[in-house]
Formats: sequence, C-alpha cells, structure tokens
Amino acid sequence: MKLKKAYGQHLLKSSGVLKKIAEALEIKKGDTVVEIGGGTGNLTRVLLQEPVERLFVLEIDEDMVKELEKIDDPRIKVLIADASQFDLCSLGEDLRLVGNLPYNVGSLIIENVVFHHRCIPIGVFMLQKEVALKLSGKGDIGWLTVLLNTFYEVEYLMSVPPRFFVPPPKVDSGLIRIKRRAKIPRLDLKSFKSFLTGIFSMRRKKLKKKLKEDLLIDAGIDPNLRVEQLSLEDFLRLYNVYEVKR
Ligand code: SAH
Repeated sequence: MKLKKAYGQHLLKSSGVLKKIAEALEIKKGDTVVEIGGGTGNLTRVLLQEPVERLFVLEIDEDMVKELEKIDDPRIKVLIADASQFDLCSLGEDLRLVGNLPYNVGSLIIENVVFHHRCIPIGVFMLQKEVALKLSGKGDIGWLTVLLNTFYEVEYLMSVPPRFFVPPPKVDSGLIRIKRRAKIPRLDLKSFKSFLTGIFSMRRKKLKKKLKEDLLIDAGIDPNLRVEQLSLEDFLRLYNVYEVKR
C-alpha cells in the first residue's frame, strides 16, 4: 500500500514499542478505548489484546479505513473522521485515548483532546519528540503546554528513533501520557486559549507590553517578566484577574 505523506503516515513497526503504548494506557476490563489514526492497524491489533470492551478507531484516510475494516473483532468500530475536529465525547463519557499521531496535526489533535477533557481521563500519544518534550514541560513551553497542563498531568514516557517506523520520519519521536487532574479549573476554554495565545505571541517582549500593568500587579506578577518565566499557577491566577478586570 502506498503511504501518504500529507496524512503523516509513518507506521510503527516495533512490537516492543506497540506493547509499551498499549500498557501505558492501563486498560481495565470494560474500558472504552479510542485510537486516533489507526493506519493499517498495527497498534489496533495490539490494543485488542488488552481487555477492552469497545475500541473506536478514528481514521481520515479512506484507504486506511478499508484496511482497518479487515480486522475481524466485534469490539472494534472504525470511523472515518478528522480527529482534530471530531466531537470525541460523542463516543462515551469515560474514554481512553491513544494514538501514534500524524505529526503535522499532532498539536491540533491534542488541543481537541483538551477541549473534550470532561470525557477523557487518560491518553497516551506518540508525537514528534520536540513537541512531546514541549508539552511535558521539558522543552521550550508554549501556549498549548499551559492549556494541556492546566487540565492534565503530563509524563514524558520515552523517546523512539526513526528506524522504528516505516517509512522512517525525519525526526525523533516521543511518547507522552496525560492523566486528568483531580481538580480542574472551571473556565471558558475558548477564552482561556485566546488569552494564552495572546500572551505567548512575541514571547521576548515583557508582559507589561501585552497586558495592563495594574492587572499584572493585581495578580502578583512582576510586569517586567517575560511569558516563559511564569509558572502554571501564575497563568491561572493572571487569567482570573484578567477575566474579571478587562
Ligand atoms: N497507528 C498506525 C498509523 C500511524 S500513522 C501505526 O502506528 O502504525 C498516522 C495515521 O493517522 C495515518 O493512518 C493517517 O492516515 C492518520 N491521520 C492523519 N491525519 C488524521 C486526522 N486528522 N484524523 C484522523 N486520522 C488521521
């Protein structure tokens, strides 16, 4: 089968890594699992060895959907869908999400997961290593790091070299696991996101160039700091002041 670059099709061939991904999802009897980007079903087949009750596979490419439909198991349901847009909570209230994600839309898919956090307690994702590190707070942080970490604890599980994939991608890969926090803030996600993208734009500029100084002072933040110097708590506190005062 001819693989499509535009869809980020790099199939994971290592049975060891596939098994690690499935195990990291901590699947228990009765669980509903949603796999994103099933491809030819390498991970799908390994997931079916776990005690899943229901396995939804989201796949954007019709040719891949045909491949996936060859898997004969009553627990599986293949859906043709764009996982960066899909209403994930339409699949259930308590979902385990997993995928060797297409790297070109990996961040968009993670964003969609955050927007559906109410039905997703746990997820395990393979991403471009740089993105995986960034999201787990190990690299240069970005607005999506803050958005994701506000709702989830993020663990960097391991790095995976290109040779484990067919065709090998140009970049290293990294596996992360996210677990929803016990206490999650109540806030309007769209508004929180636009607040974050706003203060992360022109990151070298001091915060006082982007927000009113009294707002920063009210939140107990030095107006001369730059965005990358803030902690997760700082972002939330600042956003709360901003919501009330803007
Ligand atoms: N899980 C497989 C394939 C991973 S490659 C394996 O590990 O071998 C990524 C897969 O995601 C491809 O099959 C690609 O067609 C699919 N994909 C790309 N963009 C997508 C999107 N927006 N929504 C859902 N699937 C997508």
